[in-house]
Amino acid sequence: MAKVRLYVEQSLRQGEGVSLTREQAHYLFGVMRLGVGDEVLLFDGRSGEFRAEVGEAGKRGGTLLCAEQTRPLQTPPDLWLMFAPIKKARTDFIVEKAAEMGAARICPVQTEFTNSERIRRDRLQAHAVEAAEQCGGTFVPEVAELARLDRVLADWPEERRLMFCDETLVGAGEALAGAPGPWAILIGPEGGFSESERVRLRAMPQAVAVSLGPRILRADTAAVAAMTLWQSHLGDW
Ligand code: SAH
Repeated sequence: MAKVRLYVEQSLRQGEGVSLTREQAHYLFGVMRLGVGDEVLLFDGRSGEFRAEVGEAGKRGGTLLCAEQTRPLQTPPDLWLMFAPIKKARTDFIVEKAAEMGAARICPVQTEFTNSERIRRDRLQAHAVEAAEQCGGTFVPEVAELARLDRVLADWPEERRLMFCDETLVGAGEALAGAPGPWAILIGPEGGFSESERVRLRAMPQAVAVSLGPRILRADTAAVAAMTLWQSHLGDW
């Protein structure tokens, strides 16, 4: 059976004990039915992956003993995924897929036509952690607080290129051009971008407007398609 992989906040070091939270203990001992002596894989998002053994197993807590490193830290390319939050389940999907596909940072942005004004950052972060646990990742992208797109663009870092997925280019066949380096992908909400946002984005020297093919994709599909395109052209695939 595949070993359980667990993300822990504590920095991992061979020979050290790791105490479990109530939720982690419930998952390992209640749900996965592990007991003393059983093995799990741990990662902390900074130090790679380690083998660990259950030392104490309780209902409300427990301890693992961290053994040798099994994989080094593998960081994704310097890619931010920026998207306008949509319905809850679809937003969860975008965060999960971004973590699986190798985004370094996930940034929800509020655009003019964004319907959702609030996100639960902690819940979205938990989805990113779960995705990293499942996909064998050793890195967890940070989910940023929801920020207004105009403010984000006002402080845009000079060296970061922006892959602007523009639905008005549908079918235009604009290929993704550019060199590897710091990048961000921007996906709009269900209502698309406003004309003023489009004008502003197009005027940015860092922005590259791209088409994602001849069909209009839903925002969650567009996020996955854009990451696939970016990763295969400029990323670590
Ligand atoms: N309501 C809009 C579509 C929004 S789709 C309309 O009908 O025009 C949501 C987001 O997905 C868009 O803002 C864009 O960022 C991205 N997207 C979807 N399909 C795309 C395509 N073919 N090319 C580029 N971006 C696309």
